[in-house]
Amino acid sequence: MATEQATVAEEEYLQTLFWLQEAKLPMTGANVARAMQLSAPTVHEMIGRLERDGYITRAKDKQISFTANGLVHAEGVVRRHRLIERFLTDVLGIPWDEVHEEAERLEHAMSPVLEERMLAAIGDAKTCPHGHPIVAGSRIDGVPLADVAEGAAVTILRFENEAEDLLHYLKDAGIEPGLKGTLTATSDDEVTVTGEDGDTRTITFSVAETVSVLADPSPPSRIALPEQLVLARERYGR
Ligand SMILES: [Zn+2]
Ligand SMILES: [Zn+2]
Repeated sequence: MATEQATVAEEEYLQTLFWLQEAKLPMTGANVARAMQLSAPTVHEMIGRLERDGYITRAKDKQISFTANGLVHAEGVVRRHRLIERFLTDVLGIPWDEVHEEAERLEHAMSPVLEERMLAAIGDAKTCPHGHPIVAGSRIDGVPLADVAEGAAVTILRFENEAEDLLHYLKDAGIEPGLKGTLTATSDDEVTVTGEDGDTRTITFSVAETVSVLADPSPPSRIALPEQLVLARERYGR
């Protein structure tokens, strides 16, 4: 039986599972571990708890599925998370690389009335400041920036991983959702996008795997899930 209230930790995992489903990636413990950059044993324990508490089921092949209750719960916490982030950036003026962890704290305690008020306050915005749709099901398919060929036109769609140190890194590099430009250089180490303003923005290949873009010409559709994110900050001193 499902408990009345999911714990904060359980809600974090439900969000990650929801993102995997949204991105059409297999819902497995291994993918949760990669997405959250956590160890397999840690994830294994929490997946067991989610199953006992009635939020998910596990098939013989380890594929995870939401129960009806689990899906409602996951969708709700994801929607509140993205809404809060948008509210914090647009209404309170907090930089977009500083809102993820604030939202993690607030999303568990929000009443439906407050949610309605916040939704009204953000106006026409349809995504969180990192490009994820607030209303489930409206995700635009993209490709990893890392897959794009030199010379292609790109529009940054979304940051698939919202770890706050990663967001700081992307902000420092000048990469943000909505940015349009051309992929001007790519190697096994780094990817460079030149914006329409003529400024170049370089990030590690590993980080570029977590940045979803629209590209023309476009590589085949894919969502990358790197085992370990490499943020080579020292290459960033400008
Ligand atoms: Zn976030
Ligand atoms: Zn976000």
